[in-house]
Amino acid sequence: MYLIILGPPGAGKGTQSVLIAQKLGIKHLSTGEILRQAVTESTTLGLKAKEVMDSGNLVSDDIMIGIIKEAISDESAKKGFILDGFPRTIQQAEELDKIMDSLGYSSARVINITLDDNELIRRMLGRGRKDDTAETIKNRLNVYKEQTAPVKEHYSKKSAVFDIYGIGSINEINDRILEVLK
Ligand code: AMP
Repeated sequence: MYLIILGPPGAGKGTQSVLIAQKLGIKHLSTGEILRQAVTESTTLGLKAKEVMDSGNLVSDDIMIGIIKEAISDESAKKGFILDGFPRTIQQAEELDKIMDSLGYSSARVINITLDDNELIRRMLGRGRKDDTAETIKNRLNVYKEQTAPVKEHYSKKSAVFDIYGIGSINEINDRILEVLK
């Protein structure tokens, strides 16, 4: 099983991915978490990624594709996985398609969480993450609209994409997602 969760920053992708991974017995792969871990450990990757993340811009496709290849090949992902925060550009989506084709997976099932900007900003300001300052949030929403929103269209052409309304309790939203995945 291979799932992708899409949606703007602050939509609750991380929270929902963790729950889905637990319930379906698959691996949660968050590229944001992988990068934050690298920053904490001051690895070469972390040192490169830090400034880009703090500004709300995207880490380069080359770096991200390398990260995702490694994560997908790990033994812990063998039973299936949910991708959270990847792909974020059309190039990442195209590369991911190639990787998954070569590994013999059938096409992804894609969950797209929808939410309006005011609610996203409210949630991100309440989250207290280092890259959740007012200015960075504004930039991340712009980056999302310009570079990541087209990823949904990429999948609409070839996969099942389920739009999930992101307002409600964590459990309500989780039930909505599990219902469409049945
Ligand atoms: P997230 O936790 O998914 O919001 O990711 C936090 C930050 O990590 C983003 O604002 C980007 O700077 C970076 N990042 C995470 N995933 C990707 C990706 N697939 N491509 C580029 N940058 C990413």
